[in-house]
Amino acid sequence: MRKKIVAGNWKMNKTHSEAIELITGIVEMSYDDSVQLIVIPPAVYAVEIEEMTSESSVGVGVQNTSQYESGAFTGELSATMIKSIRVKYALVGHSERREYFNETNEVLAEKTNQLLKNSITPIFCCGEVLEERESENHFNLIELQLNEGLFHLDSVQILNCVIAYEPVWAIGTGVTASSDQAQEMHQFIRKLLMNKYGENIANDISILYGGSCKPGNAKELFANADVDGGLIGGASLNAADFIAIANSF
Ligand code: PEP
Repeated sequence: MRKKIVAGNWKMNKTHSEAIELITGIVEMSYDDSVQLIVIPPAVYAVEIEEMTSESSVGVGVQNTSQYESGAFTGELSATMIKSIRVKYALVGHSERREYFNETNEVLAEKTNQLLKNSITPIFCCGEVLEERESENHFNLIELQLNEGLFHLDSVQILNCVIAYEPVWAIGTGVTASSDQAQEMHQFIRKLLMNKYGENIANDISILYGGSCKPGNAKELFANADVDGGLIGGASLNAADFIAIANSF
């Protein structure tokens, strides 16, 4: 059966002392232990946070990795490096990476391959911008992002991935997708998985919702049959809010 997951993307926030304070708060609070909690801090804090969480069930991820294996790629972070510090998860294709750093589906497919080669779980993000939804092109767009970025994987590889549906118009805007809009797209994604990999595999892959998810709306979103948890931005920067979201199933 697929896992319930709540992952917190800290983005480019928190000084070192603030990051330590946040992770200390998260580790100290109790939460539903059927939920896999994942923190995704800025990479510079990942070693220390991995060590601080090693006795807990909190997983650690990074926000981005290189599509290249190693070598002369100044400023980049490889999947091999991430593996060597025991980090288990990595975001792939967050909309901010797609938009500000021109990451294409093709590059994201290569990043996904590097991660899987190093036994790191990719959290593959997809999502449409507002114009795509308004022109009713959102289903086509999500299908394209998955076809080009993820569906080259075989059945064993895809089972080691998590998908995050994040409508771009809902990220950091305070506007959340309605519960029905979230379920409709998650069901569509699950159907794409079914068509490509079969029902059993499709039912074993967690699909997270992201976009202004907070303690006040998480319960309603997570109650949907195909919403297996959340990828949380702003609300993951506060330990109490993050844990309240984890306790919303
Ligand atoms: C995100 O950045 O993945 C995200 C969902 O952000 P927020 O929760 O702030 O909308």
